[in-house]
Amino acid sequence: MTLQLATSVKYLKGVGPKRAEALARLGIRTVGDLLYHAPHRYLDATTVTPLARVRVGQEASCVGHVVTTGVLPTRRGLRVFRAVLKDDSGLLECAWPGQPFLERQIKPGQLLLVTGPVRYYHGRQLVPREFVVLADQGEAAPDGGLVLPVYPATEGLTHRQIRGLIQQHLDALLPLARDPHPPRLSAAVGVPELGAALAAVHRPRTVEEAEAGRRRLAFDEFFDQQLVQARARHLAKRARAGIRFVLKKELTTRLKQQLPFELTGDQRRAVREITTDMTAPLRMHRLLMGDVGTGKTVVALFAMLLAVENDYQAAMMAPTELLAEQHSATLTRLLGPLGLVPELLIGRLTAAEKNAARERIAGGAARLIVGTHALIQESVRFHRLGLAVIDEQHRFGVEQRAALVEKGDAPDVLLLTATPIPRSLALTLYGDLDVTELRERPPGRGTVKTALRDEAARRKIYEFIRGECAAGRQAYVIYPVIDESERADLKAATTMAEDLQEVFAEFSVGLVHGRLKAEERDATMRAFRDNAVHILVATSVIEVGIDVANATVMLIEHAERFGLAQLHQLRGRVGRGAAASHCILLSNAPDAAARLKAFTQTTDGFKIAELDLQERGMGELAGARQSGGVPLRYANFATDLPLLEAARRAAGEIIARDPALARPEHAPYRERIVTRYERGFELFRVG
Ligand code: ADP
Ligand code: MG
Repeated sequence: MTLQLATSVKYLKGVGPKRAEALARLGIRTVGDLLYHAPHRYLDATTVTPLARVRVGQEASCVGHVVTTGVLPTRRGLRVFRAVLKDDSGLLECAWPGQPFLERQIKPGQLLLVTGPVRYYHGRQLVPREFVVLADQGEAAPDGGLVLPVYPATEGLTHRQIRGLIQQHLDALLPLARDPHPPRLSAAVGVPELGAALAAVHRPRTVEEAEAGRRRLAFDEFFDQQLVQARARHLAKRARAGIRFVLKKELTTRLKQQLPFELTGDQRRAVREITTDMTAPLRMHRLLMGDVGTGKTVVALFAMLLAVENDYQAAMMAPTELLAEQHSATLTRLLGPLGLVPELLIGRLTAAEKNAARERIAGGAARLIVGTHALIQESVRFHRLGLAVIDEQHRFGVEQRAALVEKGDAPDVLLLTATPIPRSLALTLYGDLDVTELRERPPGRGTVKTALRDEAARRKIYEFIRGECAAGRQAYVIYPVIDESERADLKAATTMAEDLQEVFAEFSVGLVHGRLKAEERDATMRAFRDNAVHILVATSVIEVGIDVANATVMLIEHAERFGLAQLHQLRGRVGRGAAASHCILLSNAPDAAARLKAFTQTTDGFKIAELDLQERGMGELAGARQSGGVPLRYANFATDLPLLEAARRAAGEIIARDPALARPEHAPYRERIVTRYERGFELFRVG
């Protein structure tokens, strides 16, 4: 049988039924899967120190044969596993405190690689942070150099076994991988050719070589993904004849004149980009991404007015009643001078009110409509919907967003989000959307000072809050609740609210959390908005986008339990008025101090989003899977932005010349996508 990438791993020497099963758990079913099973890290032993030359206080990597092993208890009852290593230069003791079970893994005769700090304990002693068994007793030391790939492993299959399997077959597998790119593309991007890349990933001479190989694989996955997105965009544009609005400069110009403030430069640019989209013959499909408080609503209002001055209706959907009310109030205020009144449709209205609103929407008397999910109910018909704006778009499901859009005949679509994501991620997640960023903050806002404090400061913090409330201002106290369905977790937040009500007897303390009924939660939030509740205890589910300019303190309990992006969202709730605001992170976790400290030193949401991404890593990004069903395996968002952009450019050029990848030289691309992407076949169907 001739070996092909699609051949089952079962046919490889050294893979029996048991191993095949273990490999399948890692997603390895074919020999191609095995070839593309890249190490998740490397141990660099190119700079090993001879055992005799290891010094106390150093970090060292060493290689030696295990001479003796044993488990010894310390005086404090901790059991320490010890192994003495030997090389040509001499001996060195290694110690693993608290890991007596290693006795079953590390045996005399083995060749061991260890890295870690060296301390003094009756002599020099290395405390390995990591170790790798390079060879068992009697086995030859591994060839292929001293940079050791470490593979994702699974139960019943160690990374050493995987490494052995890959090394054993690598020479036979490498020729099977045919490079889909012409050499000049790889050269232009600055990545190695495919065979060399795979060899470098599995058998690197240096860590740099391995990294170059990884970058090539990352480029390929970006490239495939961008091909799919370029194709989707191409198809969508063809099917996207839209409304061609005309800039009449009636309502839009009047709004500009009547605005109580100057638009920021970013807002002006955003309005320009949106206007260009809306006046073009294609449908707009744009994401407006801006940190909390950057003023997205008024930008959306310009778009809405452009639709309205063209005799279309414009609708804005928000995820909560409170937000919809807030938008309606903002629009009412800004549109008053223009003689326009927005229509509000939310569940809380009486049946008669809702009926009347629905009639005005269906008849066309309502021209700007603001609402919640109530807008997408079947009973709602629009007279002539020309623009759909979706606020906090990530709070809606795909179908809900589609349901609003389908209320019109190919209306333009503007999505708003206050969750900034790095441009790299935006390109991969929203590759079929155009993206506008608002970074600049409107002037005249009070600053937000961020501080990190521990339990010892609690009294002082309370006194500070008391002072702010006494001066007529308000405070948020956020309590982390991991699982809202966990009674114990909620109880902590509830108890906290009760305690605070005692501490702040002269003020009113409210509590909101995810298990409250929507009406109850909205009632408390309204009371807070109206300054009838002074201190609001909330779990992390606190309303997005809520604008209470009078709140000046954000106290976050157990700040270490929040991601940086989440902390930033919470901090965005204050600093909305002219008064100086304070965000206080309360944390007693020393491990988290560094990252929390870093957070206190920046207010740039995009920068925080990047830090957050680095912190969580790519693999855990739930969203990454949205990008066509194929998770990214090799890419590293912290470093690969230029690669992504190169991939996007190259893919865009190819799709522009050959939209269906019908040319023979593009056959390898087609093949990869049709097999790897769920919708690939559909997208690249010929004809
Ligand atoms: P977000 O982007 O978080 O949705 P909003 O649209 O709610 O922000 O705006 C926050 C506040 O800033 C609102 O009170 C709004 O009226 C105000 N605002 C928006 N743009 C400007 C500006 N250019 N100058 C001053 N205030 C502004
Ligand atoms: Mg908003």
